[in-house]
Amino acid sequence: MVNPLRTSDGSHESRVATLIELSTTDGVIGWGENVAPAGVSYVGESSDESVAAMCDLLAPLLAGREIDVFEMMPESWWGVSGHNFAKHALESAVWDIHAQRESKSLREVLGGTRTAIVPGVVVGISDSVAETVAEVQQRIAEGYGRVKVKISPGRDVEVLRAIRATCGDALLLQADANAAYSKDDIELLCSFDEFNLQFVEQPFAADDLESHAELARRSRTAVCLDESICTVDELMGAIEMKAGSVVNVKPSRVGGIGAAVQMHHIVKSHGIDAWVGGMLESGIGRASCLALASLSGFTMTPDLSASSRYFASDITVPFEMVNGEIQVPEGPGIGVQPLPEVLSAPETRIQTVFER
Ligand code: MG
Repeated sequence: MVNPLRTSDGSHESRVATLIELSTTDGVIGWGENVAPAGVSYVGESSDESVAAMCDLLAPLLAGREIDVFEMMPESWWGVSGHNFAKHALESAVWDIHAQRESKSLREVLGGTRTAIVPGVVVGISDSVAETVAEVQQRIAEGYGRVKVKISPGRDVEVLRAIRATCGDALLLQADANAAYSKDDIELLCSFDEFNLQFVEQPFAADDLESHAELARRSRTAVCLDESICTVDELMGAIEMKAGSVVNVKPSRVGGIGAAVQMHHIVKSHGIDAWVGGMLESGIGRASCLALASLSGFTMTPDLSASSRYFASDITVPFEMVNGEIQVPEGPGIGVQPLPEVLSAPETRIQTVFER
């Protein structure tokens, strides 16, 4: 990684990309990415567990089977509960194959209307307020029009105040807490109203919808849900409780592109704002996230930055931001594939999980 990303759960200095290559009996190849994080604090599926589930439990379910990608929902199709990141990795590779067979881009197959995305950028937690402000200024200079800053208890009010004082009131600013606060902090979080944030994201634990609903009632700032929403049922429950007015839809967290599209339709019909979140995807995962973010109901800027925001080198042709926009890939399928030199690099480990 270009520089370590610090969030309330620690520092991320490098990232192992886990890709899956599927091939059909007639030789069409699709690529997916398992983006389960190395730590277990994010929705309880660590990278090791997820990769094991993908290889041992889920990949055999695909082998030798006729597959309709529209039916591959995480809750029903697999006959196994959980393992959303692993299901997403495999399902997204099937979407790549499906779109190639239709000679269309994934964007076209999903019904996306935007051909370019105006991305936002995430700024992690730094050692000092001054460092955070400097990075925000750097990102604005790079062309990002929306900044999301990671916050945690003790690293919040001061940071937000300094960003507003330095960067002005016009900057679209969001704060992401990654579940670091508790019910006792509701008063403090209400005081964020003075910073005119677009929203505060996931202040409380994933299962604490009550506190999210209480904050949403008491605060003028919109509440965005991220870690709380892993299934369609959880989304419906959160809407019913009015636990938030914005949803961050990450295809990996919700178990697939199909589930993410289903959630898109639900939030759109309820008039809830939504956007596509990222999990430090390489170019493979980023490509399908961009296709998803082209759907019209994703009304807010996604966390899908240029490759160079995070990585010294990407494993696909890098995604670049030009005039504040990133193009949605237009080639067949996800429109990108791993670079040959990446696949043949000494640090790349290739494992055949299933072979006919
Ligand atoms: Mg988040």
